[in-house]
Amino acid sequence: MNYAEIIIPLSVAGTFTYSVPENLQNQCKIGRRVLVQFGNKKIYTGIVHSLHNDKPNYPTKDIISVLDEFSYINEIQLKFWQWIADYYMCHLGDVYTAAMPVSLRIESQTQIFLTREIIDEKLTEKEQIIVNTLKSQKTLTISRVGKLTNTSNPMNIVKKLIKKGIIDVYEQYNAAYKPKFEKFVKLSDEIKTQDDLNEVFDKISRAKKQTDLFLAYLKLSKLRYENNGFIYKEVPKKTLLEEVNASSAIFKALADKKILEEYEKQVSRLGTYDKTEGGIKKLTEVQQNAYDEIQANFEKKDVVLLHGVTSSGKTEIYIHLIKYYLKQNKQVLYLLPEIALTSQIISRLRSAFGDIVGVYHSKFNDSERAEIWEKVTAFKKNKSEYKVILGVRSAVFLPFDNLGLIIIDEEHENTYKQFDPAPRYNARDSAIVLSKLHSAKVLLGSATPSVESYFNATKGKYGYVRIDKRYKEIELPEMVLVDTLEARRQNKMRSLFHPMLIEEMTKALDNKEQVILFRNQRGFAPYVQCKTCGWIPYCPHCDVSLTYHFDSNSLVCHYCGYKTHIPTVCESCGDSNFETKGFGTQKIEEEIKIFFPEATIARLDLDVARRKHGYSEILTRFGAGDVDILIGTQMVTKGLDFDNVSIVGVLNADNLLNFPDFRSFERTFQLITQVSGRAGRMRKRGKVIIQTSKPNHEVIQMIINNKVSEFYEKELTERKNFSYPPFSRLIKINFKHKNEEKVEEFSQTFAGLTRKYFGDKQQGPFSPVIQRIKNYYIRQII
Ligand code: ADP
Ligand code: ZN
Ligand code: ZN
Repeated sequence: MNYAEIIIPLSVAGTFTYSVPENLQNQCKIGRRVLVQFGNKKIYTGIVHSLHNDKPNYPTKDIISVLDEFSYINEIQLKFWQWIADYYMCHLGDVYTAAMPVSLRIESQTQIFLTREIIDEKLTEKEQIIVNTLKSQKTLTISRVGKLTNTSNPMNIVKKLIKKGIIDVYEQYNAAYKPKFEKFVKLSDEIKTQDDLNEVFDKISRAKKQTDLFLAYLKLSKLRYENNGFIYKEVPKKTLLEEVNASSAIFKALADKKILEEYEKQVSRLGTYDKTEGGIKKLTEVQQNAYDEIQANFEKKDVVLLHGVTSSGKTEIYIHLIKYYLKQNKQVLYLLPEIALTSQIISRLRSAFGDIVGVYHSKFNDSERAEIWEKVTAFKKNKSEYKVILGVRSAVFLPFDNLGLIIIDEEHENTYKQFDPAPRYNARDSAIVLSKLHSAKVLLGSATPSVESYFNATKGKYGYVRIDKRYKEIELPEMVLVDTLEARRQNKMRSLFHPMLIEEMTKALDNKEQVILFRNQRGFAPYVQCKTCGWIPYCPHCDVSLTYHFDSNSLVCHYCGYKTHIPTVCESCGDSNFETKGFGTQKIEEEIKIFFPEATIARLDLDVARRKHGYSEILTRFGAGDVDILIGTQMVTKGLDFDNVSIVGVLNADNLLNFPDFRSFERTFQLITQVSGRAGRMRKRGKVIIQTSKPNHEVIQMIINNKVSEFYEKELTERKNFSYPPFSRLIKINFKHKNEEKVEEFSQTFAGLTRKYFGDKQQGPFSPVIQRIKNYYIRQII
């Protein structure tokens, strides 16, 4: 084929036609990465989307080189990318950019190197400069070529040199991603018998440091003699030397005496793991029935919803399903809504399946992500190292070619949806499409399914399996409503807390049990206000009040990150009499310290989780029992499995209900049910105390009375009456501009055009609750 359609990693529409030069005809195949020039100067790593012979009626550029010897992106992925681009209305280039780690698609950083010795060759002056530099430096980036030769179009020189066979470009992957090697130590081959070993001790008995080092080796390697040979574990040299604080010189002495020897091995940046005994637990009868029902459903349906109460053992059921699909030699993708959850589940999966479980999330650096890509694609070469991938939403883009099962845990979570930038995809829905392309099955799991999935399941589109019993049949926690309005009227509130909550917490702490307090607002107080005139400091870039942060004693915008000091005087009346209004997690932390000075308190919210290991550190401490009270935002509500929490406090359920969104009741139902699920998982029944000023609210009543089906039925009726999903599909169009008049005018014009198609199904343009973010005025059409 003479022409190739190439996907470029930029937000541009469609694919671009390039000609395939004679010498690349054999290598240029669909799904391979190629270097192409796009625009005047820039070089990109593109993907071959398709090949054809239709000569375009404009001049085309040649593909510069083909980087791969196999298809980096398989046809299923290309189809999947196309679906995402179509359904979520973005460009293929957007999907490509989101899908692939940067180091697999480096741009002007592309490196060139000499392919052969250059002795007497006719070169232009500029070519000579490049060749000379390469002789001394070995590699150059293409942008350096431009600088050295003082040209704006270095690609011309590079292309000519490639044609002459003098230089070549690095395979991108190798250029950016270097395998990691590590030194290991083992017993010298010369030592073959127990007697040989005993001799060693004689040899070194007078060198104390050598003896220490050798003893440390024996300990770390767990060396033993069995069936006429030594059995030992691999010991990294670094670990060994650190163990006894020895220098390399001492090791060298042992190596010279042919006692120990050193060798190098490629290691994973991601660490290695061993399976453990009992990693796969036996299912209880209830769980086994659910498992059988899921399998039976898979005979007829591609998607099954597992609606199982918190702590019913859904994860154990997943593990058994994974085992089944691995036996069929299939890959499994296990999606989680949040990185935070991966650490607990990864250890459960690794103890069940060992090293074939890979993790994929955004906190990995790029090299690590590139390594995971490699380990998944290795499947093609029949040595796939990762057969199970545990990942957050972007894991749907990994280069699977043989998926058998996709598990979508906590399927109701809204973090499965990417809001910005494009592709604005929902990983749950996309994964279902992906499964069709692989003819794989999908298991959706949740204690509080999304209204959409519940609807699909009860209407028969999906299979539906329900578990109402917790593991060990521990009862669901007791839910207690406490009326904050009433308590305030009677002057009984103790700071932010209802007296009953304080009382129950005291009991729990006396019994050495743990407490979780949930509040959907980080920071100290939502805002500060002038006591005299009511003035509130606002973000200068967004139409939103600033949040007071106690740690840094500052005001922070939660939309753009703007940070400032607490004003000393009111900008409106000049008084300096401020008070804090409302309360966030930081404020709760400060207040709770006053009531429980002896307790160890920790906080888990976005401010903490931003620190690199912030999240896992706190969860580990809490899990180990080093923290008595954990205060947090919705981060504490999710699938965490701790066994000593007896009290959960929900502080102010009202602002969940009042959130202006058609899903706010659903969210309230999910958050409160989920956080309650953290209580009393293993030992005894837990208790949940919900502070509200609206104890009679219908949704709150349904939650505390565990009227699950009723809640869904009612919510579905409302959705149907107002034509919301799942009875319709929504498209939200955002308009942004720094000039408010322009955004108003443009969105009005736009709405006029689209109204012809959508009629009164179209709402807007209107200003959202927060009308301006980062200096951009916003209008929306739904
Ligand atoms: P869910 O995912 O439904 O919230 P989990 O799978 O996390 O529930 O189970 C809750 C707890 O009970 C976990 O600590 C889990 O190890 C334990 N558990 C569940 N089922 C079993 C089982 N069959 N055997 C042993 N432990 C179990
Ligand atoms: Zn004032
Ligand atoms: Zn702001």
